[in-house]
Amino acid sequence: VPELPEVETVCRGLNQVTLGDRIQGGEVLLERTIAFPESQGFLAALQGCCLVQWERRGKYLLAQLAPAAQPAQSAGYLGVHLRMTGQLLWVDATQAVEKHTRVRFFFGNDHELRFLDQRTFGQLWWVPPDRQPADIITGLGRLGPEPFSEQFSLEYFSRQLHHRHRPIKNALLDQALVAGVGNIYADEALFLSGIHPQIHGADLTLAQRQRLRESVIQVLSDSITAKGTTFRTFRTVEGINGNYGGQAWVYDRDGQPCKVCGTPIERMKLAGRSAHFCPQCQPRS
Ligand SMILES: [Zn+2]
Repeated sequence: VPELPEVETVCRGLNQVTLGDRIQGGEVLLERTIAFPESQGFLAALQGCCLVQWERRGKYLLAQLAPAAQPAQSAGYLGVHLRMTGQLLWVDATQAVEKHTRVRFFFGNDHELRFLDQRTFGQLWWVPPDRQPADIITGLGRLGPEPFSEQFSLEYFSRQLHHRHRPIKNALLDQALVAGVGNIYADEALFLSGIHPQIHGADLTLAQRQRLRESVIQVLSDSITAKGTTFRTFRTVEGINGNYGGQAWVYDRDGQPCKVCGTPIERMKLAGRSAHFCPQCQPRS
């Protein structure tokens, strides 16, 4: 599943290749990929626009739109959530349309932006210029602060954990606590902090909360630098795989020796997800 660093990598890639060219048209190959409005209205709204700037909010991508003829005006936003297997690829228009292609955008420079999605949970929205993105894309309104923002302060994080009598791993996955942290980076940040995933947020010391907050920021920024994790399905906009996976401390390494102490990495189910941890480096108490 693409997490914050992968979505950020896609966002930066889109800003390098898709801006300024007119969208001449498009094609929706799977109706339900378009979450708002229906596919005809969606394509009509985007036709004749150019993309001014992409930004990431949590794991959402938002592209500011402008009429190509009047670039100072707003034509709303294009919203994208990749969910489990969504990919945005910038390809030469002559390239064969791959299996699992759900939406195509035709640009004026013999290029296409294609949305591919094997599992079909991914969604696209058009936000009209007189509406706020969070009005149309309901999940946006429920997101907590960005991990790199000032709002994700130690004071905020500590206060949020104070009343959480559930495993800290579950808290890190809560998008209302902090936006964009998923399974991989939650496991990695807990390892770097020496915190067992089952310990309750409320039971962490202030020093542990501080270490954990710093570790969350560190694993995410390291992974952005490395252009995202290696998934079978993750590709950058240019179709290149990320390369963080080989550097994981614990994620998906159950049974293999801990890179610090040699103890076999263990796995347990928490919040319906697999948590990976070193029982030696991350003691229960
Ligand atoms: Zn260890």
